[in-house]
Amino acid sequence: MPELPEVETTRRGLAPHVEGRSVARILLRRPDLRWPIPPEVAMRLPGQRIETVRRRAKYLLLDTQAGSALLHLGMSGSLRVLPADAPVRAHDHVDIVLDDGHALRFHDSRRFGCLLWQAAGACHPLLAGLGPEPLSEAFDGDYLFQRSRGRKVPVKSFLMDQAVVVGVGNIYAAEALFLAGIAPLRPAGQVSRARYAALAEAAQSILAHAIERGGTTLRDFIHPDGAPGYFAQELSVYGRAGRPCPRCGRPLKSARIGQRATVWCPRCQH
Ligand SMILES: [Zn+2]
Repeated sequence: MPELPEVETTRRGLAPHVEGRSVARILLRRPDLRWPIPPEVAMRLPGQRIETVRRRAKYLLLDTQAGSALLHLGMSGSLRVLPADAPVRAHDHVDIVLDDGHALRFHDSRRFGCLLWQAAGACHPLLAGLGPEPLSEAFDGDYLFQRSRGRKVPVKSFLMDQAVVVGVGNIYAAEALFLAGIAPLRPAGQVSRARYAALAEAAQSILAHAIERGGTTLRDFIHPDGAPGYFAQELSVYGRAGRPCPRCGRPLKSARIGQRATVWCPRCQH
């Protein structure tokens, strides 16, 4: 599944090809993805100049004066810029054709992605109530400490709550908790300010590192044959249940927290 680093890399890959271009036309090869594609997309986007390609959480926004196309890659979606006449493959559902003869093509085999519309000056309901971006200055240990007082939920669930901070998925939460030495089941309200500082720093460094590595996949956005490769992760705990802890060598433990598999070291994390 595309996580925040993949979405940010997608944004960085697309922006130079898309920003400043006008939309010539929209080709919808089906009326819906996860949800119906609202009529505003086909009605309002053509003729508009795409001013910026923006990311909020795992959503991408193509900002124009008339409003923004709001895209989510879901479980299996990808976006590429290619010549508008490039052969269409199965699951190529949408083309946003640009005035330079290229198209921004949305491919999604499982169709958990979406293409929606946000009117100018409005905030789409999907974006309302989201917490800060993990790589923004609003996100730090003090913020986590304050938000968590009185909370009994496991700290891992707290960190994955999109109202607390966006884009820290299961993998990144497990890895950040390991780096910070915090047991994932510890109640969020019982983690100290100093340990939240370590946790915020760990989450930021893991995400920033993944985005940096993603730079090598940028070519996928301009070559029609390149499959979008999600980033190979160097993982310490995620997916390694029963294997030795990379720090102390003892077997890693696993449990389900909020329906998600979680792995941690009972010796190094407390
Ligand atoms: Zn350990």
